[in-house]
Amino acid sequence: SRDATSAMLERIEQDNVRFLRLQFTDLLGMPKNVAIPVKQAEKALTTGIGFDGSSIEGFVRIEESDMVLKPDLSTYTLLPWRSGEYAEARFVCDVYKASGKPFEGDPRYVLRRAMEDAAKDGYVFNTGPELEFFLFKMLEGRPTTQFQDVGGYFDLAPTDLAEDVRREIILALTEMGFEIEASHHEVAESQHEIDFKYSDALHTADNVISFKFAAKTIALMRGLHASFMAKPIYGICGSGMHTNCSLAKNDKNAFYDPDAPLQLSKTCMHFIGGLLKHAKAITRLANPTVNSYKRLVPGYEAPCYVSWSAGNRSALVRVPSPRGNSTRVEFRSPDPTCNPYLAFAAMLTAGMEGVRNEIEPPVGVDTNIYHMSIEERKGAGIETLPGDLHEANQALLADDLICRAFGPHVVEALTSVAEAEWDAYRTAVHPWELDRYLATY
Ligand code: ADP
Ligand code: MG
Ligand code: MG
Ligand code: MG
Ligand code: MG
Repeated sequence: SRDATSAMLERIEQDNVRFLRLQFTDLLGMPKNVAIPVKQAEKALTTGIGFDGSSIEGFVRIEESDMVLKPDLSTYTLLPWRSGEYAEARFVCDVYKASGKPFEGDPRYVLRRAMEDAAKDGYVFNTGPELEFFLFKMLEGRPTTQFQDVGGYFDLAPTDLAEDVRREIILALTEMGFEIEASHHEVAESQHEIDFKYSDALHTADNVISFKFAAKTIALMRGLHASFMAKPIYGICGSGMHTNCSLAKNDKNAFYDPDAPLQLSKTCMHFIGGLLKHAKAITRLANPTVNSYKRLVPGYEAPCYVSWSAGNRSALVRVPSPRGNSTRVEFRSPDPTCNPYLAFAAMLTAGMEGVRNEIEPPVGVDTNIYHMSIEERKGAGIETLPGDLHEANQALLADDLICRAFGPHVVEALTSVAEAEWDAYRTAVHPWELDRYLATY
């Protein structure tokens, strides 16, 4: 509305903002932005700012490349590392075509559609992701895989040398409006986790992008590389992005029912049923890189089987113990290379199908699945997650529900990205092969 626009313009002036960054993401979840001088603010907030979409991954064909960015006013944030006299602020934007219609290749639009669909039944989808990352040393301007510290889970200084950097990241995020709930050293050397408060999935997805951007920026200012790669080092834990999910209805947690078994509502059980039914297709969105599949292996608290449990950390879906307003299911497969808009949209679409069709989940598995034999797993009906990117993309193509929700534009673009990536990987000769075969044959 005109009021909201003029109030925002006033705020921009009060904050002494000189540059505005108009942010959006490509299909791979890479943040892109157009920086504009503050003089253009009024135009940006009213008609939007045009850009050429043909050079953005997964966007458009060359002949229809005129795109318009429209800022979402609720995402206004000052960038703490650019404060003072020449302040800089950013908006997350929605992408429109020259015709004025929303662009179907905009990942934020894919999630907005899924959220609007759930809203028809009165539901808001809330997500709280736990992002893990490594802090690596830089050498001559390039990231290495050299540890910055040798601490372990919940270690304190003096082993946790990264504590200062983590604190600076947290301070920056707090200035950006994040509510930080916890932060700790993770299991592996140089690995960290910072948890922020959950919100509706759209704003959480915006937050995931901002989080990674802020962490990388602050780390770089200290000469370090913050890596969100899923499995940077063989033999130690990879980095996950466990996603805690719940549905709210009339501002109440719809997963909580004090009278039900485990105090989990039917809605919650059916949501789990939907998640498990579509788990293989969701994998394509939750684990989008060749490297993602090196994390989804036994032995490192990452899931590789389709199962759920109240407590068991080898399951794909775990129900953490808090109840009441904190009742949630934790989807454990995503890693921080995912495009959060697409991953959340896939999870919500699957979960809502479970809720609407009352899909009962299979019996929960409370034993460690990694210790079961193939026969035992078969007997319990436990399926395996896709083992690589190619298999995951095939699973996406086989899933009508998710394909319909995402639309042909996105599915085709995701498929061509996956095929190109998989072909490049599968035809390359890796150091492992040379080590293994060169001398022997
Ligand atoms: P873990 O015990 O698996 O390490 P954490 O404590 O690190 O879990 O993270 C829990 C996450 O769950 C936080 O981001 C928190 O905000 C989020 N969360 C809490 N309640 C809900 C809810 N009702 N819906 C979605 N997310 C929630
Ligand atoms: Mg955690
Ligand atoms: Mg915790
Ligand atoms: Mg963790
Ligand atoms: Mg967790």
